[in-house]
Amino acid sequence: MFDWLIVGAGFAGSVLAERLASQRGERVLVIDKRPHIGGNAYDRYDDAGILIHQYGPHIFHTNSQAIFDYLSKFTRWRPYEHRVLADVDGMLVPIPINLDTVNRLFALNLTSEELATWFAARAEKRDEIRTSEDVVVSAVGRELYEKFFKGYTRKQWGVDPSQLDKSVTARVPTRIDRDDRYFTDSFQYMPEGGYTRLFERMLAHPNIRVMLQTSFQDIRKEIAFRRVIYTGPIDEFFKFRFGKLPYRSLQFKHETFDQQWLQPVAVVNYPQTEAYTRITEYKHLTGQSHEKTSVTYEFPSDAGDPYYPVPRAENMELYKKYERLALAQENVWFVGRLATYRYYNMDQVVGQALATFRRICHEVPLPEVA
Ligand code: FAD
Ligand code: UDP
Repeated sequence: MFDWLIVGAGFAGSVLAERLASQRGERVLVIDKRPHIGGNAYDRYDDAGILIHQYGPHIFHTNSQAIFDYLSKFTRWRPYEHRVLADVDGMLVPIPINLDTVNRLFALNLTSEELATWFAARAEKRDEIRTSEDVVVSAVGRELYEKFFKGYTRKQWGVDPSQLDKSVTARVPTRIDRDDRYFTDSFQYMPEGGYTRLFERMLAHPNIRVMLQTSFQDIRKEIAFRRVIYTGPIDEFFKFRFGKLPYRSLQFKHETFDQQWLQPVAVVNYPQTEAYTRITEYKHLTGQSHEKTSVTYEFPSDAGDPYYPVPRAENMELYKKYERLALAQENVWFVGRLATYRYYNMDQVVGQALATFRRICHEVPLPEVA
């Protein structure tokens, strides 16, 4: 008899397994239908011996000292500040759009103050910022919106930015200075030995058992457990009772080149051309030295594993119906990006899992010692 069955060995499931086992001494079974732990943050060495991220680039960044301290129990860190270039009009320019982006793209020599005026002259007024189009055109105007955001977003999400909640493109700021970092969080690091190593350490507790290639549907009747943490898609848990919740998927193409470097930074975005959205070259992220280089192309699609909840009002409405069912479930906790249908970064999932653990400590008495 396990105290907990945890469905999913990603950040949500692994953090809760670690907390329940180490802080409450409870017996935990973690299952995942995939053949590995780590969820979407899983990394591995490819045939050339280069550390790659199986499900696309994962860069850790947070403003939370508590979340950073918690994860630091399981890894040392490599300082890394993420920089991204966009292939626009045949040039590689910084994204987020900054002073250098505009000066290079339009062969100008503006100062920061002049750029603020330049943006203001082009920005479209909006009474209310509601959509992902509104966010960008109200900040930088239509031309830059079309060059950097329209095509990329249509590719990535399969819908026009005007059909997506503002929160999607609001992830990418606009700057008038020359700061070309993708994130400005106070903690920006990569786990020194990789993510999978971090997960191995998190799950290496005598009270935790891990079963891979095991799906919830297959074993829910076979195994005795008291309570469940569920981190898979919430609509699947309820057998799609209200219909399918849209999740956007990606197909990943991994490739190794017989040369040291392919591109000047870890990620190059393709908002105007190509079927893929971006190319990631891992050695920039990991600091690994190797005579070859490995990269991943991301091709967005509707079919395939669910990776992104799609932030649109109608989807949130449908999610709320499932959430009401979830709240009425006794002894099941829904945590993580798929189970709470939130476009969360890794640190937010860790924060949500730690908050869930605190709630559990309030609500669930400790098991009696036999
Ligand atoms: P997941 O990692 O998806 O784990 C859920 C697990 O549950 C999966 O392993 C799945 O196989 C398993 N599962 C589902 N259903 C079942 C079932 N029925 N039975 C058994 N197992 C099941 N975040 C960042 O902070 N920085 C980044 O740079 C970043 N880049 C990203 C890039 C891409 C391409 C993607 C897709 C995401 C990125 N993220 C990034 C987000 C990050 O991946 C997530 O926040 C985090 O991994 C979510 O953890 P999770 O545990 O909620 O879900
Ligand atoms: N985006 C864009 N062009 C870019 C970068 C981002 O249009 O060059 C939009 C796109 O809709 C994307 C969203 O902004 O999905 C968020 O970007 P982010 O890099 O945070 O995406 P993620 O890493 O989560 O896939």
